[in-house]
Amino acid sequence: MNVLPRMLFLFQSLQILDKMDCFKKWQRDISRFVWQGKKPRIKFKILTDAKDRGGFALPDLKLYYKSAAFCWLKEWLLLENTDILDLEGFNNVFGWHAYLWYDKVKAHKAFKNHIVRKALLNVWIRYKDLLENKTPRWLSPMEAKAQKRLNMEAKWPKYWEILEQEGDKLKLQSFEKLKDKARDWLHYYQIMEAYNLDKKVGFQVEKSKLETELLESKTKILSKMYNLLLKWNTQDETVKSAMIKWAQDLGHNIMFADWEQLWTTGMKFMACNALKENIMKMIYRWYMTPVKLAKIYHSPNNKCWKCKENEGTFFHLWWTCPRIKAFWEIIYNELKKVFKYIFLKKPEAFLLGIVGQLVPKKDRTFFMYATTAARILFAKYWKTQDLPTLEEWQMKAMDYMELAEMTGRIRDQGEESMEEDWKKFKDYLQKYCKINEC
Ligand SMILES: [Zn+2]
Repeated sequence: MNVLPRMLFLFQSLQILDKMDCFKKWQRDISRFVWQGKKPRIKFKILTDAKDRGGFALPDLKLYYKSAAFCWLKEWLLLENTDILDLEGFNNVFGWHAYLWYDKVKAHKAFKNHIVRKALLNVWIRYKDLLENKTPRWLSPMEAKAQKRLNMEAKWPKYWEILEQEGDKLKLQSFEKLKDKARDWLHYYQIMEAYNLDKKVGFQVEKSKLETELLESKTKILSKMYNLLLKWNTQDETVKSAMIKWAQDLGHNIMFADWEQLWTTGMKFMACNALKENIMKMIYRWYMTPVKLAKIYHSPNNKCWKCKENEGTFFHLWWTCPRIKAFWEIIYNELKKVFKYIFLKKPEAFLLGIVGQLVPKKDRTFFMYATTAARILFAKYWKTQDLPTLEEWQMKAMDYMELAEMTGRIRDQGEESMEEDWKKFKDYLQKYCKINEC
């Protein structure tokens, strides 16, 4: 996939889009490719979300375009590179900050009569209030008030330099202190006037994300900005519909922190994508159920494929069906034999890998492998009446032992941690298993 770098090069070089329509078309093409022409089964927004928030990290081209715009906007906010500022603002009437913060575009419409400036300003206006909801620290009232000339100085005093803390408020420094920044009394009063207006909105005290990620960063600003915008873009998806459905099925809520833990550390127990894929499919309730299929094909038969009696909902097929229940009971009993202690049989642990404190930390990796093996086998018999056997599960778990070894080697973990994870299982195999391969 070298599509993204090519697109990024384009975005970083050309910021000239007035309307964002083309992204819809591109997004549609990507979606068509991802789903191979079939109907999408996961929302595009969720696909683009970061992996540590339960997404799939599919690039959102529109957001990358906007992030690239911020790489350009950085110069307008920082006011340091006078060559670029002169070039891009050759016919500006006001200071840059007047256009960006004090709405002077209305007074000087020609600012938008410039293909790049117009495109950048559009992006800025869209995100300005999200990124800075108070008067920003980087804003320079002096620059905003200044008449624009070519070859202007670069060292414009910013609010963070000219305000001072008084009690719990920020106030403008005295004329004495600003002597080397303000030209004279008149200039000082001009600054004071701007300050009094900005005071109504309030001042940003701590550094904003925009400041730390974009203005202060020297490297990787495109991806930092992308992550920042992505967070805004996907935050309304935080309580994802799949999570609500799981809570309904389980009869209790899963704490958000537990979901987060699954996305951040829980999924990383191995490098193999097939296993990760299974967990993602479980989280997003990927598997087509008799109930769903009956709805799609307007068929009256929505009964479970295994017991042929009950309504075949997702949770029935994975947990409450008497036959799958028996299967999980077998796996549960074997796990007890492996670990040599008793623990609760919770659906969220077996189906989603949300283990919590159910088993001690040293056994969690094996627990994840063992339950994932069971689910992958079970999915193999999806839509049939059959169920996997105990031997199949044991074989699968042994396969994963090899995979785990490779994972360890890729990550340079050394053999001890892998030995530690699988020791109990090896003992179990010797004691109970007829297949003597290891
Ligand atoms: Zn059933």
